[in-house]
Amino acid sequence: MTPWEAPGRFWRGNLHTHSDVSDGALPPEEVCRRYRDEGYDFLALTDHFVGAFGYPIVDTVPFRTNRFTTILGAELHSGVMANGELWHILAVGLPPDFAPSHTPEFRPVAGQESGPEIARRAVEAGAYVAIAHPQWSGLTLDDARSLAGIAHAVETYNHGCATGCDRPDGFHVLDLLLSEGHRLNLCATDDAHFTEPDHFGGWVMVKAEANEPGALLAALKAGAYYSSQGPEIRRIEVTDEVVRVECSAAASIIVSGHGTSSKGLHGQSMTRGEMPLERFAGSPWLRVTVVDRAGKRAWSNPIWR
Ligand SMILES: [Zn+2]
Ligand SMILES: [Zn+2]
Repeated sequence: MTPWEAPGRFWRGNLHTHSDVSDGALPPEEVCRRYRDEGYDFLALTDHFVGAFGYPIVDTVPFRTNRFTTILGAELHSGVMANGELWHILAVGLPPDFAPSHTPEFRPVAGQESGPEIARRAVEAGAYVAIAHPQWSGLTLDDARSLAGIAHAVETYNHGCATGCDRPDGFHVLDLLLSEGHRLNLCATDDAHFTEPDHFGGWVMVKAEANEPGALLAALKAGAYYSSQGPEIRRIEVTDEVVRVECSAAASIIVSGHGTSSKGLHGQSMTRGEMPLERFAGSPWLRVTVVDRAGKRAWSNPIWR
C-alpha cells in the first residue's frame, strides 16, 4: 500500500533513538520532551538490548501526551555478521516482556541466537523490523540476504552515522535486494544518542487515521509511509507510461529502478513533475527521491509495478 492511497493523515516520527538507559546521553523523559517540542508526533526509544544495560525495553508510556505518542522498541543485538561483529537490528513495537537474548556485551558469543533468529522472534512478537545502518555495520550482501525474508525494511539513511562517521547509507544494499526480488521498504532515522549532532535529521512520515501506537505500527508494516530529511512527498502516481510526483518545492525529482535505470527532473521550486517510464521497462520496481534546494531529501518506499 502506498501512503497516498491509505486513509488518515501523515504523522512524523523517529524510529531509532537511544537514552542513558543504554549509551545515550539523556534520560528517556528528556529525549521524549525534545522530540515532542521539536514537533514530532511520535518517537520510538530503541535502547541497546544488551545484558550490560539490563536488556532494556524502556517504558515511555508516561511521556505520551494528547498530541505525542511513543512506540516501545529496542535495537537488538545477537549473532555474528560476516565481518565477525555483532548484528544491529532495529525493532519498533516490541512487547515490554520481550525475552532477553544471550548478549552480555557488544560482542558475539557462542550459543546466542543468530541475527535472522532474533529478527524473526521480534517480527513474531509484533515488531516492525529494519536492518540497521548497513554501511556503518559493514554489512555484506549475504548478511542482508539472510534477513531479507524477515525484516520489513532497510535503514537507508541513519543521521547519526552521517554526522558521526560519514557512513549513512543503506540504499546500495536495498537496491540490490530489490533487484533480486526481495520486497523490503526503507526508512530514514536519527539513531540519536545526543552525544553529537545526531538528532532531528532523518524521520518517517506515517499515514494513519490516528496518532496511536497500534495504528502507526500497522501503517509502518504495510509500508504506508515515506522517509525524509525535510521535503514532503504529497503524492506519487505510477501508470504504465509515467510517474507523477507532487511535493514541496524541489530542485530535483529522481526516479530509480532496477540496475542502471534512473531518470532525473531538475528545475526551480518544482512542486510537481511527470516523467516517462520508458527507461524502466525492465524494472519491476521503482522508487522516488525528492531533493530540495538545500540538498535535503525525501524518499518513497519502493513501488512494485
Ligand atoms: Zn546500531
Ligand atoms: Zn542505534
